[in-house]
Amino acid sequence: MPSETDGVMIVLSSPSGAGKTTLVKMLSNMDNFDVSISHTTRQPRLNEISNKDYYFVGEDQFRRLIKNEEFLEYAKVYNNFYGTTRTPVIDKLNKGKNVLFDIDWQGADQIKNKNLDYKLITFFILPPSKKVLFDRLSNRDMKDKLIVDERMKQFDRDVLHWINYDYVVINDDLQKCYKKISNLINAEVSNGSKDYDKEFIRNHVEKLIS
Ligand code: ADP
Ligand code: 5GP
Repeated sequence: MPSETDGVMIVLSSPSGAGKTTLVKMLSNMDNFDVSISHTTRQPRLNEISNKDYYFVGEDQFRRLIKNEEFLEYAKVYNNFYGTTRTPVIDKLNKGKNVLFDIDWQGADQIKNKNLDYKLITFFILPPSKKVLFDRLSNRDMKDKLIVDERMKQFDRDVLHWINYDYVVINDDLQKCYKKISNLINAEVSNGSKDYDKEFIRNHVEKLIS
C-alpha cells in the first residue's frame, strides 16, 4: 500500500511530437512536483540543456549503468538508449515529492510491472490529428526531415499502446490539455470524481489510424 506521505509517480508517454515534454515542463511548476531527468545516448537538440533536460552520456557509460543495475527502467527508442536511474526517483518519492516521467511505453510498462509501493498514474498524450503532429515535428526538428519521416512512420505503431494507460488526453489547446491532466491528477490524489470519457478516446484513436 502506498503511504499517504510518499510522493506519487506520474508517467506521460506519447507518440513523438504530441507534446508530452512540453506538458511535463508545465506540470513541473505545480506545487511539490519534480521531473525525473533521464539518461540518453542521443545527441542534444539545440535548445536542450545538459543535466536539466537529459544527462547526455556515451553508449559505454549507459551500458555501465545497465550492468550496475542502476536503472529503474530503460529502453532503446529510435536507435538511442534512454533510461531512468532509480536512486534520485526513490529519494524524491520518499521525501513526499511527486515525480513526473517523460518516458516511452516500454519504460511505462517496466515501471508498472515493478509494482512499486508508490501510487502510479499513467497518461498517454495524443495529437488532435496526424497533420498537426506532422507540423509540430517539422517545426521542432526543422533541420532533419529524416527524423520527422521516421517519427511519423512510427506513429501508427506507438499509438496502439494507448490502451495500457490510465488516461489518454488529446493535446489540441495546450492550456486545456494541461488543465485536464492536472485535474485528473488532483482527482486521483484526493479520490475525487474524474472527468474522463474512454469511448471518446477510442473513437479518436480509430480516426487517427484510419
Ligand atoms: P514530445 O515530447 O511528445 O515529443 P514536444 O513537447 O517536444 O513533444 O512537442 C513537440 C512540438 O510541438 C514542440 O515544438 C512544442 O512546442 C509543440 N507543441 C506542444 N504542444 C502544443 C500545442 N498544444 N499546440 C501547439 N504546439 C504544441
Ligand atoms: P526524445 O528523443 O524526443 O527526447 O525522446 C524520444 C522518446 O524517448 C520519447 O518517447 C521519450 O518519452 C522517451 N524517453 C525519454 N526518456 C526516457 C527514459 O528515461 N526511458 C524511456 N523508456 N523512454 C524515455
